[in-house]
Amino acid sequence: MESILLLVHMESDGLLAKPALEALAAALALGGELTVGLVGGAAQPAANQIAGCGAARFLVVAGDPYTQPRYATDAAAAEALCRQAGAALVLAPATSRWARALPGVAYRLGGRVDTHATSLSVQDGAPAATRWFYRQRMEAVLSRSERPWVVLLDAGCNPAWTGPAGTAQVEAVTVETPPTRTTVTGVQAPKADEQTIRPDARLLFVAGAGWTKKQPDGAVHGAEAETLILGFLRAAKASLGGSKSLVDLSGEGQPVLRFMTHLNQIGQTGATPRHPKGLSTCCHGEEPHVVGWRFVNQRRAINLDPNCGWARGKADVLYVADAFEVMRHLNKLLA
Ligand SMILES: Cc1cc2nc3c(=O)[nH]c(=O)nc-3n(C[C@H](O)[C@H](O)[C@H](O)COP(=O)(O)OP(=O)(O)OC[C@H]3O[C@@H](n4cnc5c(N)ncnc54)[C@H](O)[C@@H]3O)c2cc1C
Repeated sequence: MESILLLVHMESDGLLAKPALEALAAALALGGELTVGLVGGAAQPAANQIAGCGAARFLVVAGDPYTQPRYATDAAAAEALCRQAGAALVLAPATSRWARALPGVAYRLGGRVDTHATSLSVQDGAPAATRWFYRQRMEAVLSRSERPWVVLLDAGCNPAWTGPAGTAQVEAVTVETPPTRTTVTGVQAPKADEQTIRPDARLLFVAGAGWTKKQPDGAVHGAEAETLILGFLRAAKASLGGSKSLVDLSGEGQPVLRFMTHLNQIGQTGATPRHPKGLSTCCHGEEPHVVGWRFVNQRRAINLDPNCGWARGKADVLYVADAFEVMRHLNKLLA
């Protein structure tokens, strides 16, 4: 197996996050000589965090300009690390930072880049990457002859590396810091309990447009829908998904489910999250929606209609029931 450079960047606490540890485990499983390239403020704590991983070298680009995500500095740091390591395969977690900077770095190096890899293997002594195409309907195994080959590995597909910390011998790589035009002046993020998209949650809760439709009593119960859904999300620490019909309604400013945005949309034109379990409510289960459930292992749905899409082999369990009633009862149990 050829030599590997693993590129990782530190988070605001100075350490490596789970996607970086997942990419490290994937790199180690390939078996080639491993160099770790670290980018961030101070590299020693992060290098120490993975000191026991068996990497041959720890190369670092550290300093103030590299604490903030910014194309110019991230690309300059990654390019310098790639040139210093001279590795054939450059592996990195698909963080927003690397996804933005590394395609340009591959171009500068005369190499190639592939994104959204889900796993790596060795075939005939050379690395091969697996990725999905056509909204996760087809899986392909890719190899390339061009080097360096930069591969961005999606988060949540590999177990994270666990091993002993220690004291790593780091080698500083000098970079001429490029002129910068971008300054990060602050971070705006919702409070933790307002965050509805939780990639690490054990359960994906999906709300469909049925929550906003007239119910058997002839009325719409938007306010109660909101209370029931938010109550369940808080109690179950679930991640929230929505059908396209529902997020489109919310986007039009209608007074239903104000916390639902297009980022929550699951499906062909939405996201394909990875969760062990999923519960769909008031959503019909049409194919363009259900393709987004490809990586949800156990699927359950609540729908009034026994002939809805979920009943046609798309869910493991379909509860033919009123989702308002079921969720009221569930929330009571969870409380
Ligand atoms: C090119 C293309 C791309 C698309 N991409 C996507 C995509 O990415 N994601 C996506 O979601 N859709 C996508 N769609 C749209 C998709 O085909 C459906 O129109 C959409 O998923 C329907 O949303 P829904 O099931 O929430 O709403 P509806 O079809 O209106 O279904 C509402 C359901 O709620 C049920 N219901 C109502 N009240 C209750 C109650 N009290 N209890 C239980 N059940 C109740 C009803 O029985 C009904 O089945 C796409 C379509 C196209 C053509």
